[in-house]
Amino acid sequence: MGHEDCIFCKIVSGDIPSAKVYEDDYVYAFLDISQVTKGHTLIIPKTHTKNIYETPVDTASEFFARVPKVANAIKATYNPIGMNLLNNNEKPADQSVFHLHIHLIPRYGDSDGFSTNWKTHTEEYTNEDLQKIAKEINSSI
Ligand code: AMP
Ligand code: ZN
Repeated sequence: MGHEDCIFCKIVSGDIPSAKVYEDDYVYAFLDISQVTKGHTLIIPKTHTKNIYETPVDTASEFFARVPKVANAIKATYNPIGMNLLNNNEKPADQSVFHLHIHLIPRYGDSDGFSTNWKTHTEEYTNEDLQKIAKEINSSI
């Protein structure tokens, strides 16, 4: 079912054109127009869901199960030296289209268009701190 005013639902239905990479009953994969690196692909569930928080288990199962297939196709085609998968949830975390999607970003080198800013804080946490945090999160599951 298409979700009113969702551009990705419109891409699935064909109302907005896209460069389709793959499609089956559950997912649709297409090139991201920004092409951060060559072959930068988005994979989305056909069923509209806003982001990871609102995704039912069944939708998640069908969706995530197909990600390796598309990742391997990009790898086989362009032989990247690596690949980053990225999923943004909510505006402050850079989600701009509110239909769940994963970016598949093949990597070709240090200045290929994508980079991560990954600051480690290992020295600021004791093992006790980590156990406490893990327990706190676990209690919400
Ligand atoms: P995000 O910021 O994670 O929500 O990513 C949304 C992505 O969708 C951006 O990287 C956009 O370049 C991409 N995008 C937006 N509109 C289109 C479109 N019509 N076709 C392909 N990609 C799109
Ligand atoms: Zn949608």
